[in-house]
Amino acid sequence: MSDTETTLTCTFHPKVETQLRCNRCGKPICIKCAAHTPTGYRCPECIRSQQKIFITTKWFDHVIAVAISGVIAFLGSLFAVNLGIYLMILIAVGAGYLVVWTVKKAIKNRRSPLLKYVMTVSAFLGSIIPVIGILIRDFRYYGTILGGGLYSMIWYLVFSVILSAYVYYQLRN
Ligand SMILES: [Zn+2]
Ligand SMILES: [Zn+2]
Repeated sequence: MSDTETTLTCTFHPKVETQLRCNRCGKPICIKCAAHTPTGYRCPECIRSQQKIFITTKWFDHVIAVAISGVIAFLGSLFAVNLGIYLMILIAVGAGYLVVWTVKKAIKNRRSPLLKYVMTVSAFLGSIIPVIGILIRDFRYYGTILGGGLYSMIWYLVFSVILSAYVYYQLRN
C-alpha cells in the first residue's frame, strides 16, 4: 500500500480518513458515505445519478400504459366470466402477464417508479368495469344493487384482484 492511499480523506467529510474509493468515479469516500451495491462501494453522487437514469419514461408512456392495461384487463374479465374457478384464475394470471408484456413492448421498456402503480390500478379498474354494468342492470330490474348480480360481482372482484396483484408482482423492484 502506497503513502497516497493511506492519507486519503473522504470527499464528503474532509476530516475523515479512509481507504475506500467509489468504484464508479474513484472519489475517496468514508464508510458512512459508501453505499454497498452488488458491484461494490458507491459514493452518494453516483447513487443519485443512477436513480435519475432509472426514470426513463416519456409523459405519454403512462397514458399508453393506462390504455393497454385497462383494455386487456376489461377484455380478460369479459372472457373469464362464467368459467370454472381454475380457468378464471388462469385467465387472470394470463391477462396480467399479457398486460405487462404488451405495455413493455409498447413503451420500449422505458421505466419509472410510478409505472407499476399506474398499471396495477388501471388493470384493476379495467377488469372491474363489468361490475358497474351489473350494478346498473340490477338497479334497473330490482330497484336495488343487491339483486341477482352479487355472485357475478364477487366473481369479477376476485378476478380483478388476482389480475392486478399479478401485474404488481411482475413489476416489483
Ligand atoms: Zn464521508
Ligand atoms: Zn462515485
